[in-house]
Amino acid sequence: MKGSRFAGELRWLHKVRLYPTCTQERALLEILRTTRALYNALLQQRRDAWMTRRTSVSSKQQYAEITDLRAVEPRFAKVYRECEDATLRRLDLAMARRDHLHKVSRSLVDRYDRIVLEDLRLANMTRSAKGSVEDPGKNVKAKSGLNRELLDAGFGILATLIREKAEYAARQVIVVNPTYSSQTCAACGHVAASSREGPRFVCVRCRHEDDADVNAARVILLRAESPPTREPGDARGAQQDAA
Ligand SMILES: [Zn+2]
Repeated sequence: MKGSRFAGELRWLHKVRLYPTCTQERALLEILRTTRALYNALLQQRRDAWMTRRTSVSSKQQYAEITDLRAVEPRFAKVYRECEDATLRRLDLAMARRDHLHKVSRSLVDRYDRIVLEDLRLANMTRSAKGSVEDPGKNVKAKSGLNRELLDAGFGILATLIREKAEYAARQVIVVNPTYSSQTCAACGHVAASSREGPRFVCVRCRHEDDADVNAARVILLRAESPPTREPGDARGAQQDAA
């Protein structure tokens, strides 16, 4: 059992290894296939209702439809009702999350003419390859794993939604190199993992102090405004300092 936190939603991650017999394995796969088909059907129903009639299908309606489906389709009746209900809850959660990301991206695009994002592909590569500047490799394990992936997936969807809406509204989206953005001082450009004190950023060189996220956001903005790989706070400078 491994404890992990994710935005206050995922508190515990239980890893359970199953050793099913062949018959059990076939049964599990069948459940998986059926619940997957159900998930897609429920999602499609909501999409169709929205596309054709601009109406939303409620979770309650779909719960009732699962009951009807079980009465006529043996394939769905064979699966535990609890599994099907869990599938419906998962869909609700996914839709709620997506709805939230739509609202966040809408609000950002409405309020700002220019939006700067960290390049997520570069961020992933950096994380998998390096630790902190001072102790390479140290943070690799802590930053890897499911939490990271879930967080990145959420950010990836948000980034896509921002791009789509920004294009439509003729807003500018700039993507910058994210390397060490959270360890870089927005005031003097010094890079040090020790400048981070949890939610606060206190520069070990110039004592500039700010909320860690606000400091990182300023660094990201500076990178968008300056030519790449020339500024003190950029990735190449950081690695040279550390070497
Ligand atoms: Zn500083």
